[in-house]
Amino acid sequence: MTLPVFPETYIDLLPEVRAFLGEELKLYIGGRWVPALSGATFETVDPSTGRVLARVPSAQAEDVDAAVRAARQTFDSGAWHLKLTASERGRLIWRLADLIEARAPILAQLDALDNGKPVKKAQTVDVPLSADHFRYYAGWTTKIEGATIPVSTPGMFNYTVREPIGVCGLIVPWNYPLLMAAWKIAPALAAGNCIILKPAEQTPLSALYLARLFEEAGFPPGVFNVLTGYGETAGAALVEHPGVDKIGFTGSASVARTIIRNSASTLKRVSLELGGKSPNIIFADADLEQAVVGATWASFGNNGQSCTAGSRLYIERRVFDRVVEGIADEVAKIRVGMGMQAEQPDLGPVVSGDQLNTVMGYIQDGYASGAQSVIGGKRLGGALADGYFIEPTVFVNVQDSLKIAREEIFGPVVCAMPFDDADEVLWRANETPFGLAAGLWTRDLATAHRFAAKLRAGTIWINTWGDTDAASPFGGYKQSGHGREMGKEAIDLYSEVKSVWLRAD
Ligand code: NDP
Repeated sequence: MTLPVFPETYIDLLPEVRAFLGEELKLYIGGRWVPALSGATFETVDPSTGRVLARVPSAQAEDVDAAVRAARQTFDSGAWHLKLTASERGRLIWRLADLIEARAPILAQLDALDNGKPVKKAQTVDVPLSADHFRYYAGWTTKIEGATIPVSTPGMFNYTVREPIGVCGLIVPWNYPLLMAAWKIAPALAAGNCIILKPAEQTPLSALYLARLFEEAGFPPGVFNVLTGYGETAGAALVEHPGVDKIGFTGSASVARTIIRNSASTLKRVSLELGGKSPNIIFADADLEQAVVGATWASFGNNGQSCTAGSRLYIERRVFDRVVEGIADEVAKIRVGMGMQAEQPDLGPVVSGDQLNTVMGYIQDGYASGAQSVIGGKRLGGALADGYFIEPTVFVNVQDSLKIAREEIFGPVVCAMPFDDADEVLWRANETPFGLAAGLWTRDLATAHRFAAKLRAGTIWINTWGDTDAASPFGGYKQSGHGREMGKEAIDLYSEVKSVWLRAD
């Protein structure tokens, strides 16, 4: 394929990235690179320019079937979870992490081109965190244990073992393409499963490149397979396929509902990491300088395209104006630009034209409902007019009942709302169908502990925001998901428990 003409302001593409984009990209099934059986392809677009980057195969039901057969065969043969020792599996996963690290510049350019995020952020945050994830779970392969159970049945010995579930279909979104895949692949591999990864249609490139690294690392064929394609076709076929034992999904609540419905006929295991409308509460006694910077990046980190975005900002009334002014000053310093430009911006575009329309629709709705922006509110034009760039936007004069204060916008928009007392803000913070994350800024230890206990969310951040670690469980209460990723919990999420009884007398 002929490469698009990139803007002059772009850093040079690495020769490997150029070559990759110029190739006929293929699905990775059973250790082989194959086109979609129908020959169908689709375009992936650079959101900074709106230009086509590459064409990738559009997997259909028959490709899903081929991938499931390959993964099933490998799983049933025991080539991964039985014939290799736990230590050998761990070593392979570690080797994959080394390769990810060694190819960080390539993976970072692919994610920056596909998603629009600043390449420096991709290289210093997304890729190292992905490698770290594989390393953490490489260590787990030798530590997945059962238990001996002191049953009260005379003469019986009872123990448990943890076994892999089988074939896992992993469906991931576009906001952190490599990292979201790593969050699922690493524990699923460590637990001994075979995997079919379906990346988001907007960001398929790093997933295809990752498959090369699996090949290079020497994983048995069929352990890891990649199907690029649309959710409604490839994703849905994966969910419905009787040969898939588990679906691990990150994305929207509406697709999660479809997945639950479509998995009902096979009753396969489903784990869900969904969105949020996370409350971020600033008390007047907080270190306000720290809180202002923290709240700015809680809202606008990754352009607000983060399931944990602190998009409902509650500020104690007596410091409300001061904090909002401080945040507006911080936002004014944010440089928005193309993720691959030499002079690196802080934020890139949103991921697609559809996402641009969705976010701008919310902004218009905010204005129409009486909210006022203290900064931002517009699409960026000029040299950025062809891309999907939106000014980081801070709304005030927002009622909790407004759509912009209730729904996940998944873009650079935050609603700042005053509160008068702790009980009131606790109630308002919890008054949401979501429960992924929540945060507070205070110097008062009693308030910190009380809120940590009473906020209904899977992660609580106190005087900080956005920290995650491969070792610490992450997931949602309420409609923010089922199950926990990361930490030991993710091993549980990707394994079955078997109870074995033995007559011992
Ligand atoms: P989706 O939930 O549509 O996409 C997530 C993944 O699910 C993609 O790989 C998608 O495929 C796939 N998918 C879509 N439909 C189906 C289906 N019927 N069966 C199986 N898989 C399917 O997210 P969007 O990209 O549409 O984003 C919309 C909103 O979702 C955002 O504005 C945000 O609110 C939320 N979101 C939340 C994320 C989070 O981290 N929690 C991440 C991304 C989005 P494909 O895209 O290839 O068609």
